[in-house]
Amino acid sequence: MLSKLHQGITTQFVGQCGQSAAPVNEKTRELLESYLGFILAGTKISWDWKTFDDWLKEVEKLPLALNMATCLGHGTLRVAVMGFEDRKAAPAEMEEMKKLLREGMEAGSFGLSSGLIYPPGVYTPKEELLELAEVLRETGGLYMTHMRNESAELLSGVAETIEIGRQGGIPVQISHHKVLGKENWGLVNKSLQMVDEARKEGIDVTIDQYPYNNCSTSVRACLPPWAQAGGVQSICERLENPETRKKIAEEIRTSMDMSKPCGWESMLRHGGGPEGALVVYCPNTPQWEGKNLREIASAMNMDPVESAFEIIMKNNGNDLACYAAISDEDIKTVLAHPATMIGSDSIPPAEGAKAHPRSFGSHPRIIAKYVREENTLAIENAVQKMTALPAARFGLQQKGLIRPGMDADILIFDQQKVLDKATYEKPTELAQGMDIVLVGGKKVLDGGSYTGTASGTVIRKGR
Ligand SMILES: [Zn+2]
Repeated sequence: MLSKLHQGITTQFVGQCGQSAAPVNEKTRELLESYLGFILAGTKISWDWKTFDDWLKEVEKLPLALNMATCLGHGTLRVAVMGFEDRKAAPAEMEEMKKLLREGMEAGSFGLSSGLIYPPGVYTPKEELLELAEVLRETGGLYMTHMRNESAELLSGVAETIEIGRQGGIPVQISHHKVLGKENWGLVNKSLQMVDEARKEGIDVTIDQYPYNNCSTSVRACLPPWAQAGGVQSICERLENPETRKKIAEEIRTSMDMSKPCGWESMLRHGGGPEGALVVYCPNTPQWEGKNLREIASAMNMDPVESAFEIIMKNNGNDLACYAAISDEDIKTVLAHPATMIGSDSIPPAEGAKAHPRSFGSHPRIIAKYVREENTLAIENAVQKMTALPAARFGLQQKGLIRPGMDADILIFDQQKVLDKATYEKPTELAQGMDIVLVGGKKVLDGGSYTGTASGTVIRKGR
């Protein structure tokens, strides 16, 4: 968690984009492991838990340098009940999902997160989310979503999210708001207008955002959704079959033709082709780390799409890629919106692994780039978006402000010196400038160095 502490983060929300470590059962555990593959990054998990409560109890046994709060992932829920099945939930399965969500909420989850571009989220109709919203309404939970589409169909994703807020009668949050692909840049002006109109109507919609031009996901995220079905093992089997492999490759190549519309979230299209697809982490083929698919393909002497397949198969899906798909103008537009708070959306790297630089730099970058350089925000506004706003949003009544009676999670820094150091080439450089970080009144960073103190706690909603 040094990556977070050096940014001045004192409470971390986990369980985003549909993915949480619980609930889990014996029957579908391996499927969950593959679903969480690019977070686990090869880490061996003991799986000493089944329910959400069991899992939180395990985390509570650990020394924590900062506080942790969590959402329950819809994808994890669906994997536990119906694996990676591409179909509607049967009534009994729906009841089982609702029961598990209720148990998670009672154990202290803050809500339900969804990841609707990833299997199994991608197979989920809105009706299923609305049924789950009933449980959230009864238990005071929030729905946060990696929407079904963040490119040409962005606005339909926003409309669905707002509709879940309206019909479900629950607060909703758009995760890592952005629009991918040059042809779609500027659409955030319309999406923010929709958010404003919904808020005027009384629907509780908020947004979070990370301040980088590259989005981050796995290399296999460049495959069409049908080719990603069934998890990493199934993907590798498809790529081993010459005919299926050819069909997948053709679909990806066709999707890169900007003169024609494309019906799915093609990361290679959004990133502007193989040049815009940067492989950040692939431990079994480390020679390709920090290079884009065009460079890798030319070194492998093969087609860029084929080179992506090679990386997926050689690393068994344990990889990370960044796609240059977001405009700087859009970042500033979303950042300036009053309903936007900052979230790193990051996957902390396992020991020795690499990550998108946002894991190490998101919050300092807001101050260094968007307060000092670009004047997008005043410092007070930036601080509010990183402290009071998210704390209020999640109902953390003891946090987010400095006043008597509040938890002493406090940062002392010189705003002229705060700087993100992580880059795509060196993504694990710690940020600079956070001199003193207190978690629960104890110094965790002092003089910019970790003190060894672990004064963080697991925050369960309503406890
Ligand atoms: Zn996401």
